[in-house]
Amino acid sequence: IAPLNIVGGGMAGAEAAWQAANAGVPVIIHEMRPSVGTFAHQTGDLAEMVCSNSFRSDDDEQNAVGLLHWEMRQAGGLIMAMADAHALPAGGALAVDREAFARAVTAKLRAHPNVTVQPGEITALPDSGHWIIATGPLTSDALGAAIRAETGAEALAFFDAIAPIIYFDSIDLSKAWFQSRYDKGETEAEQKAYLNCPMDRAQYDAFIDALLEAEKTEFHAGETANYFDGCLPIEVMAERGRETLRHGPMKPVGLTNPHAPDVKPWAVVQLRRDNALGTLYNIVGFQTKMKYGAQVSVLKTIPGLEGAQFARLGGIHRNTFLNSPTLLDDHLRLKSRPHIRFAGQITGVEGYVESAAMGLLAGRLAVGDILGQPVGAPPRETAMGALVHHITGGAEAKTFQPMNVNFGLFPPIDAKGGRRGRMTRYKGYTDRAKAAYLQWLDAQTSDAA
Ligand code: FAD
Repeated sequence: IAPLNIVGGGMAGAEAAWQAANAGVPVIIHEMRPSVGTFAHQTGDLAEMVCSNSFRSDDDEQNAVGLLHWEMRQAGGLIMAMADAHALPAGGALAVDREAFARAVTAKLRAHPNVTVQPGEITALPDSGHWIIATGPLTSDALGAAIRAETGAEALAFFDAIAPIIYFDSIDLSKAWFQSRYDKGETEAEQKAYLNCPMDRAQYDAFIDALLEAEKTEFHAGETANYFDGCLPIEVMAERGRETLRHGPMKPVGLTNPHAPDVKPWAVVQLRRDNALGTLYNIVGFQTKMKYGAQVSVLKTIPGLEGAQFARLGGIHRNTFLNSPTLLDDHLRLKSRPHIRFAGQITGVEGYVESAAMGLLAGRLAVGDILGQPVGAPPRETAMGALVHHITGGAEAKTFQPMNVNFGLFPPIDAKGGRRGRMTRYKGYTDRAKAAYLQWLDAQTSDAA
């Protein structure tokens, strides 16, 4: 059986290796630590958690990340098994003892008869064989340069600049309205590409004050803050002058408010559709390093967003990631070199859980290729399927930024509004996902039999 080479033994690489090794495929994990380090990792262990020790919500009925936990457990995932074995009390969240967790993942993989851990940095893209590249947000410089040479500079980013993303159905359309600036675009989809939230002068002034006072997150030591003018955080723009935002992302020109056609807004916050389903909208140009709590309270002062539910909050981080919508197919293969798959955060998902999930998927898909028993992409109704579909097809390529799993990525389910309606809808998503996921797993077992 041909071996599977995995570059990077982090969340994704460790999980991919486990899946492939358990299917009988020999696996070589190429891991550069501890001889080559990163600014965030502290040890030479596999699957090191670089910051928080939480895998977030473990609720598999009401929460999309909890559902992803469930899906990985069903597939015999190593990351979930070791997280469960080393869990700490944390209410509804799955928090772990990070050192015990990483040591256990490392020990399990090292003890597996089909796994070899080969120390050392990989610096070039391989020409042949079966490969998964799972080198994460802090991919080494040499490999980053090799990937960039293959994909083109536009298609590999070294920083993310994430504007907050809001569920469409939480936006108040009695205040906001659909319109693209200067009415550009002819089709209905183009007309609905932008939503606008108007501000009068007093609201704008209060908003700038709130931005200036909000608590901000600092860059980590060694995580250089050389972001360029094109993606300055909104609070930095506000510091440069009270009018800067009104002449930048909040400019009120080319727009007419149908709710008050005679009143010219002093400033307008624009939201742009973020996925093909139209369930998510991002706030245009609103990348920010405000702390999460501050973001929620400041952004909810925007007229029309008072009841906003956030699918993800904004941030700016050192983060190597591909423009997956253009570069990868739905089996996570690099279109220009299909013997190479990508997995983990480098594919444009965000977070330990999402990264491990993409590792699990890439591992299973690679096994399918190696054993000649092709595995289909997971159904879009599942958390894994919704996520991989988003990064490889559903997201806008031009504005692609990393994404957490959330119900806005799922094919919609209709339900009444309000809290009770939302709970029913979320339960509908998770019930539907579980049935579809078990079918997907079963198909692999019966193919292998
Ligand atoms: P990693 O877990 O980073 O694994 C990649 C592995 O590849 C590493 O072991 C690295 O040493 C290795 N590697 C890199 N280049 C090479 C090479 N050329 N050759 C061989 N090996 C290589 N997510 C959260 O969910 N919660 C958080 O609190 C959080 N905080 C973060 C803080 C920081 C500073 C950063 C940078 C990221 C944070 N993340 C957080 C995101 C987190 O890193 C990812 O979610 C997760 O670790 C990604 O998994 P991965 O397997 O893709 O990458």
